[in-house]
Amino acid sequence: MRQYQLCSPKLAFVALVLVLAGCGAPEPPEPPPVQALPVDRIATGIDPHSFAEFDRVRVSHLSLDLEADFRRRTLSGHVVLELERKVPGHQRLVLDTWDLDIRDVNAVQDDGELMPLSWRLGADSDYLGTPLVIALPQGISAVRVDYASSPDAFGLQWLDGEQTASGRPFLYSQSQPQYARTWVPLQDTPAVRYTFDAVVRGPRDLLVLMGAAGNAIETNPTGEYRFEMPEPIPSYLMAIAIGDLEFAEIGPRTGIYAESAWIGPAAEEFAGLEQMVEIGENLYGPYRWGRYDLLVLPASFPFGGMENPRLSYVTPTIIAGDGSLLALVAHELAHSWSGNLVTNAAWRDLWLNEGFTVYFEARIMEELYGREVRDQLARLAWDGLMETLETADPRDRQLVRDLSDRDPEQAFMRVPYDMGRFFLDWLEDRFGREILDTFLREYFDHFAFQSITSEDFRDYLDTHLLQAHPGRVSLDEIDAWLYQPGMPAFAVEPVSDAFEQVDDWRRRWQADEVALNELPVDDWSVHQWRHFLIGLEGALDAAQMAVMDERFDLTGQTNYEILFLWLMRAIEARYEPGIERLERFLLEVGRNKFTRPLYQALADSEWGREWAIEVYQRARPGYHALTRQAAERALGISD
Ligand SMILES: [Zn+2]
Repeated sequence: MRQYQLCSPKLAFVALVLVLAGCGAPEPPEPPPVQALPVDRIATGIDPHSFAEFDRVRVSHLSLDLEADFRRRTLSGHVVLELERKVPGHQRLVLDTWDLDIRDVNAVQDDGELMPLSWRLGADSDYLGTPLVIALPQGISAVRVDYASSPDAFGLQWLDGEQTASGRPFLYSQSQPQYARTWVPLQDTPAVRYTFDAVVRGPRDLLVLMGAAGNAIETNPTGEYRFEMPEPIPSYLMAIAIGDLEFAEIGPRTGIYAESAWIGPAAEEFAGLEQMVEIGENLYGPYRWGRYDLLVLPASFPFGGMENPRLSYVTPTIIAGDGSLLALVAHELAHSWSGNLVTNAAWRDLWLNEGFTVYFEARIMEELYGREVRDQLARLAWDGLMETLETADPRDRQLVRDLSDRDPEQAFMRVPYDMGRFFLDWLEDRFGREILDTFLREYFDHFAFQSITSEDFRDYLDTHLLQAHPGRVSLDEIDAWLYQPGMPAFAVEPVSDAFEQVDDWRRRWQADEVALNELPVDDWSVHQWRHFLIGLEGALDAAQMAVMDERFDLTGQTNYEILFLWLMRAIEARYEPGIERLERFLLEVGRNKFTRPLYQALADSEWGREWAIEVYQRARPGYHALTRQAAERALGISD
């Protein structure tokens, strides 16, 4: 554990000289002596996952000036933080950092001159990083921190040319939930929103993008790019990406960025993007972020997507060739309202972001593909959620969860997503769609660009929905969803007629009443296929797998959702052609939703653990740190 790191005594001396010299200018205030910074007692505050004392002094704007060095794998430069003082006379600023090399800290005075400030790093904490404590003299309202990120920064994934489709290096960030602090020293809590501007210099032949306004559509020979984010965002939405990228326009305010191998298929797959934005606006009011572009990342991206404002990140594993996995794009877009516009104040309130977004995603899918597809997706979610609830930690079985002594990474499981969505489905059922839509539109308007708690929502809901339409829902029922473990008995279970037919065919086939050839699979949707594979009774043996493969070519599937379920079966049956495909899959894809259960199933199998460790060692250099962490846990290995 690293102990305190004192700033250079030289700087304190310079400050002293400045003060003594006077120079005819107004005397700059003298920084308090170093011993006035009791870093031992730095505790997390209102947000248990941040050291920031944002109730006393709050960051309102950032100016970033960074250089991306692919050889060293660092972002280095400085950030200027503009401050709003909430408590006059409060004498320190505490920032979140994690593995940052802090080089210099200065006040930026009104005339632009720098004045050295005393600073220290506090004690390291497991998953929260290290507080940076800066003395904040009276009258100072902007602080500049010069720093560099670590080559191992958790929030940055540096890829070599061998790990990308273009053969050129790639960098992308993932800041949610608490990884922004690994590449910018800031108040890393969703409770604080700020605007920012940035100048970033990268290699001359690569394109630099940010989740901001000002993204270029081709490389700039100087290698320098400028950005501005005029809408206030929370830190977890800070995003940067650098790569050999091309741009394809979809509509007047929508487009796709991808490496050249993906740009054609991606532009085709996401051709309806502009229409999706319009559907979103019709439902919940104007899109308030200017442009909406998608960035297709290399397959190592550990998530399906990330809702970085103005530039959502998506995995290429949703490019199925038939638009069947567009729910994920609907999801990231929906976050432009739920999450990016109205944000959870802390990770315990994550369901305010994700539950609303899954509900909203379902509404967009219904608009695009009809009620039946929505019902199929709902049923898949319900079945998955029920399985999760059976085994989840008792603290994790309701919408509002106590995460105060846990890594905020653990906020991300099915419950805030799917239970949150079924909560809104239930409200729709009780109040009717029209009333709920009006309420939601006003809710997004009322809390636009704010971060709120579950209790803020509960109060607003009580006044504007429950009391406005009395007799339909009680506050006790609301509290059952929010605070009591398990799915409330009065929740509305989704039904899909198409799935019931699949159940019937599956049962008859497994009872030998019909032959495989007779299954009417040509009419099946991707979701019906998923439901079929999930519901198969008992393990198939390798011979049965071969028969199915012969008939349906499941090993050759290009739809990753179906392929994943098939590979899980292949592990169970030790089905050779499937295992060969699995090896290629693991070497290529780093999406945690797939890799974690696959490694887990291999580790749990009688034969697969050693094989999986060997494949993992080869795949590891291309994986994101989050994928490595999850895979190593599953395999029971560590560095
Ligand atoms: Zn989401």
